Amino acid sequence: MGRITLDKVTKSFGEVQVIPPLDLSIEEGEFVVFVGPSGCGKSTLLRLIAGLEDTTSGHIRIDGEDATDLPPAKRRLAMVFQSYALYPHMTVRKNIAFPMRMAKLDKAEQDRRVEEAARVLNLTDYLDRRPGQLSGGQRQRVAIGRAIVREPAAFLFDEPLSNLDAALRVGMRLEISELHERLKTTMIYVTHDQVEAMTMADKIVVLQAGEIEQVGSPLDLYRTPRNRFVAGFIGSPK
Ligand code: ADP
Ligand code: MG
Repeated sequence: MGRITLDKVTKSFGEVQVIPPLDLSIEEGEFVVFVGPSGCGKSTLLRLIAGLEDTTSGHIRIDGEDATDLPPAKRRLAMVFQSYALYPHMTVRKNIAFPMRMAKLDKAEQDRRVEEAARVLNLTDYLDRRPGQLSGGQRQRVAIGRAIVREPAAFLFDEPLSNLDAALRVGMRLEISELHERLKTTMIYVTHDQVEAMTMADKIVVLQAGEIEQVGSPLDLYRTPRNRFVAGFIGSPK
């Protein structure tokens, strides 16, 4: 589960093409980072995969199924947003269970998944608190918990740590990497931060003006950047 392929996908807003024809393969269980400067199309690409934007042309396949025209809810992907988007009046337990309540999942199953997510995220002692009583890092974990309970084929993160201070960012980076180790679910992670890309990714996709400049492991990109842009962006000595 969690194999995603993009086949000649393009996206235009009005007359402006922000994603020229783009091919990409993401393998099951991979941690893929989309990195590039602000405005290069990272969020747009992620939103196309999530189904939050319609493709202008091309096809998106998820686990072999053509998902190009599927609404977000049918794609079995979970997006973790930049802002936590938690409900302040609900407890952590209710926040995490929210998507399952909407889907009218069996109550016992809801409880089981909340307990499991809380265990994985070290939130067991905080289930009866409200978001206002939590630290920034804990709130981010609740947002991830809400994604976990949907048991998605892949997690999509759009700069999830940009609201956190530098010290907390390092901690959360490690936590997300550990979560990937534990769940072994495909993760696509968008950032403009080279350090995050280099430390977290199995595979880095370097974007500039909507185009893929290079795809490779952090070591590949560091050792053999394909051009000056990649070298400069990754901080390679070449
Ligand atoms: P990034 O996430 O890498 O900063 P975005 O994907 O947000 O970049 O934006 C890529 C380009 O698409 C930018 O030029 C941006 O202005 C444009 N864009 C994004 N969303 C819209 C939209 N809804 N309408 C028009 N232009 C948009
Ligand atoms: Mg963005």
